[in-house]
Amino acid sequence: MRTLITGIGQVVSGDVAEPLLDADSVAIVDGRIEAVGRGLPVQDADIVIDAHGTTVIPGLIDSHAHPVFGDFTPRQRTFDFIESSLHGGVTTMISAGEVHLPGRPKDIVGLKALAIAVNHSYANLRPAGVKVRAGAPILELGMVESDFAEMAAAGVGLIGEIGLGSVKTGSDAAPMVAWGRAHGMISTFHTGGPSLAGSSAVTADAVLEANPHIAGHINGGTTSLSEADITRLVAAETGIALELVHCGNGRTALVGLGLAVDADVLGRVILGNDAPSGTGVVALGILRLIAHLASLGGVAPETVIGLATGNTARIHGLDTGVIAPGRAADLCIVDAPVGSVADTALGALANGDLFGISMILIDGVPVIGRSRNTAPAARAAEIVKGPSVGGGGH
Ligand SMILES: [Zn+2]
Repeated sequence: MRTLITGIGQVVSGDVAEPLLDADSVAIVDGRIEAVGRGLPVQDADIVIDAHGTTVIPGLIDSHAHPVFGDFTPRQRTFDFIESSLHGGVTTMISAGEVHLPGRPKDIVGLKALAIAVNHSYANLRPAGVKVRAGAPILELGMVESDFAEMAAAGVGLIGEIGLGSVKTGSDAAPMVAWGRAHGMISTFHTGGPSLAGSSAVTADAVLEANPHIAGHINGGTTSLSEADITRLVAAETGIALELVHCGNGRTALVGLGLAVDADVLGRVILGNDAPSGTGVVALGILRLIAHLASLGGVAPETVIGLATGNTARIHGLDTGVIAPGRAADLCIVDAPVGSVADTALGALANGDLFGISMILIDGVPVIGRSRNTAPAARAAEIVKGPSVGGGGH
């Protein structure tokens, strides 16, 4: 099946090294981007979308979510939070641990079973079309290498936030992170103050000793690391990914971003929501964080979008997040909202406004029209050939 998007004003690549592309069209074949360029031929496209001069960006990747099963969160007793996040531009959601399961098992057999069951469950289910990568075990003392081998063989590719279970110190975590790494599992270490009673603060020392892939929410989830600790993580020669989250400290998010700019390591910065959580269910969390960083952080909006797309895809080995041939065609078509002082999506973000979403495609198929959650886009994409798609509407 062929899909063509024409009439694009700006294409944001998702690659922080080259964030804007010289293109007005994107061609998609069987769910993957085939070409990005100017005046691509309509040929025999099954679906033709006119972007009406607006902006196309990769679908956003939330690097830090807390799903459990399906599209329900026990933490905030809320249904359809994943669908609601789609209406905030999120097309891929990555679990940092299914910590909100009532009665979450802390014995090793139980925590392995949960991780495998959650992983297999979301492999069978894409709520509202969103790609959920989950099954992220919370590490407990007593785990051995064969536990990681068993989970990895069953498809588990993540280790949930270290520090939320009984493994809290760098020395306890280091061998487990290494076993996970040897079996292809991407690990995140919770940093800063505890989010759950019974867990404790985690400092840069513990993270650097354990050497996980990702330093989770260096701006706090919700209580931030000190600026001295953030500075040490940015300077770490291990190349550890530096995660900033919406449900954290807005000031130290800007501190972390500034340090990453100064050290020329923006390629290591990724963005998460850290919801559902005590903060709530925040449908526009990733979008709000992008606008925060792009308006106050001194980094161009197209580059900030790359933090929430291409960077996360690279660290997690995903085939989405970048607009380039061969990638999955997970795309958002966006514009300045009605009433903004700006007349483009990127101009709106630079001003601190959230863009309006007029269409989202997953694997090349339009899944929603106008977002029910963002303010209305001033100009909306239109399907000029092919079946129409529902939206939230305004
Ligand atoms: Zn956390």
